[in-house]
This record gives sequence, structure tokens and C-alpha cells, in this order.
Amino acid sequence: MTRSSPEVERPGAQRWVPAEPTLPALHEAVHDCRGCELYRDATQAVMGRGPAGAGLMLVGEQPGDREDREGEPFVGPAGRVLSEALAATGVDPEQVYVTNAVKHFRFQWKGKRRIHESPDRGQVAACAPWLAAELEVVRPSGVVLLGGTAGKALYGPGFRVGATRGTLQEWPEAVPVALAPPWVLPTVHPAAVLRARDGREAAYDGLVSDLRTAVSALSDR
Ligand code: SF4
Repeated sequence: MTRSSPEVERPGAQRWVPAEPTLPALHEAVHDCRGCELYRDATQAVMGRGPAGAGLMLVGEQPGDREDREGEPFVGPAGRVLSEALAATGVDPEQVYVTNAVKHFRFQWKGKRRIHESPDRGQVAACAPWLAAELEVVRPSGVVLLGGTAGKALYGPGFRVGATRGTLQEWPEAVPVALAPPWVLPTVHPAAVLRARDGREAAYDGLVSDLRTAVSALSDR
């Protein structure tokens, strides 16, 4: 069991975020974060990966089991789907900055297995300062939100991927950042492609199509 409960103290991550962030400083500082209770059960915090100055930033939900053990985002099965989909658009996955809305893995034990559990609203809100700092350092020309949790982190609990997927959205006014990216494009999380047992090919094609829209927007502006 995770030790998440409504009573736990969640001071939020801000006090652990370096005042003058750089990617190396963020990588170092995130390991001390006690902004919510998720650090207790996870192996380690997982900061984003990619070059500062990347044109495109992709934001997922949280590290998975393998990411938690390896300390790298998107290295598990969903990460492979994402890399393949990016490569299909002609983009070098290594030139894209990939991260998650929440930096520690939330899970439940089922026997000896750790089963993914989506972070709750309070945990997403507590972790938001890390994403804001990554945005400040990377300053992407566009942000792709992978799935509902990333979408809710920016647009609130009413966000539904299906309502706006594949279309360019304005950065939400309610989320102040030093320099708002010119656009945000929601799409599905690559894990949803893996879960689509009957229509995996169509789900994958949909993800590639949405990423193509994002890549075109990069070259249009
Ligand atoms: S999930 Fe985010 S806010 Fe919570 S402890 Fe980890 S880094 Fe800090």
C-alpha cells in the first residue's frame, strides 16, 4: 500500500526548487523534495530528460515501475511507444524534452508487484513547481500533454483528453510561468496505446497524427 491519505502534510515542492534553476540543479534538488508523501515509497525522484532549449516538451503523468528503478523518464514500454511515434514524425526523440507532471512513482502493492496508481489532485498540485522550473529552463516552443493527468495539471479537474486532443490550445492563464509556451497540444498517453488491446494500431496512428500536428506547429511559428 502507498501511504497516501488525505491527512498527510503536503507543503508543495516550491521550497526545494532552486532559485536559479538549471537542468543539473533540478536533477540534484528533486531528490530532496518532500513536497508530498510520494517520496516515501518510491525508489527515487525522476526528473525530465532532454536538452535545455528543446523545441518540444512532452509531459506525461508520473514515472512507471521501470522509470522509478532506473531514474529516467519514459524508459519502459510506454516510452518505447513514444520514441517510435516521435521517430515516425521525423523527430529525433533525443532532441525532445520529456518529463512528467509528478516526479515520484505512486503505486499499490499487489502481492509482489507494484501496480501503478494515478496521482491525486493534491499530489499533482504539490509537484507543479518542478514542471514550472523545467519550463523556465527549457523554454519550449510547444508542449504536448500526454494523457489526462498532465492535462488536469494545467487545465484543472474538468480536463478531458478527448475534448481537445490533437488541437493547439492556449497556455492556461491560471498557471503562471515565467514564459508561457505559445501553444499546448493534448493527446493520449502512450500507455493508452498499449492498453488498447483491440485497436492498438488505430490508437498508435492517432498518437502519431497528434504528434505530427505538434511538429508542424513548431515549424509554422
Ligand atoms: S511527487 Fe513531487 S512534490 Fe511529491 S515528493 Fe515527489 S517531487 Fe516532491
